[in-house]
Amino acid sequence: MTTLDRRDLIKLGGLAAIAAAAPLSALAKAPPAGMQGAGVYRYKVGDIEVTAVNDGVWQMPLKEGFVTNAKLDDVQAAMKEAFLPPETLPIPFTVLVVNTGAKLVLIDTGTGALLAPTAGTLTANLAAAGIDPKSIDTILISHFHPDHINGIRPKDGVATFPNAEIKVPEAEMAFWMDDGNMAKAPEGMKPAFENVRRVFAPIAKNAKTFKGGEDLETGITAIAASGHTPGHSVFAIHSGNAKLLALSDTTNHPALFVRNPDWSAIFDMDADQARATRRKLLDMAASERMQVAGYHFPFPATGYIAKDGAKFQLVPMAWTPVL
Ligand SMILES: [Zn+2]
Repeated sequence: MTTLDRRDLIKLGGLAAIAAAAPLSALAKAPPAGMQGAGVYRYKVGDIEVTAVNDGVWQMPLKEGFVTNAKLDDVQAAMKEAFLPPETLPIPFTVLVVNTGAKLVLIDTGTGALLAPTAGTLTANLAAAGIDPKSIDTILISHFHPDHINGIRPKDGVATFPNAEIKVPEAEMAFWMDDGNMAKAPEGMKPAFENVRRVFAPIAKNAKTFKGGEDLETGITAIAASGHTPGHSVFAIHSGNAKLLALSDTTNHPALFVRNPDWSAIFDMDADQARATRRKLLDMAASERMQVAGYHFPFPATGYIAKDGAKFQLVPMAWTPVL
């Protein structure tokens, strides 16, 4: 075993001084990449292949009122417990591509690069996954908030997935396209109504609507999960004995809302109903030891829900090189 003597330490000290004086670029043989690798992760649900595709993250400045029924101090304590920074909540977006064997199905469509400079990576990550947007047969939408529908039609008016049939919750289409609802909505919600019209008005007649309990594709069943929005839906993806529950926005960031299922994010339109739905679905996932996916979970946005007294915990899926 080699040991460092005093002379070695003096030499190392000298090197450290040289390193400190020289710019990094003069020493490094390769420049730092400065960006993350591809946000793509695959897993199987029975015979069905699921590809989680990341659409980036919104670094949301955390303010009093984001959790409508908890004090900022308590929210920041929960973030500290999860080793998150106290001032900024990273809200990721992850879309699922489900290969049922018969069809390639996209569940939600990302932000369309319209919401945050660090979001909107869906197209690049689909390319990294080898998935051509033209090959998507069906788009299933969980609800009509902009981070889930904008990818259908980004600002320039282009349809990103030109060959896809679009299926949306009936109650979402009914609520958001109703002019009376838009007229009586608070000022802060008007842009969301206008955005739904921007995305859907040209295709509303062609979009198919579904209700909870309906089988949407082979191995994909809709489950009504209202509260977050009037028609918010989650999806059971099943093959043989295997099942994945795609929770959509049943919870926002798990460090806050899986951990504290009674907390309400400001985005929950009916907080009481959303809370009841969240408890029901988390309880079901925990007791059935069911794999879950969450649209706003840290990538690859899948894992299991463990019961922890009156709270829950997300146990993230470990990365595996084999399918
Ligand atoms: Zn969302």
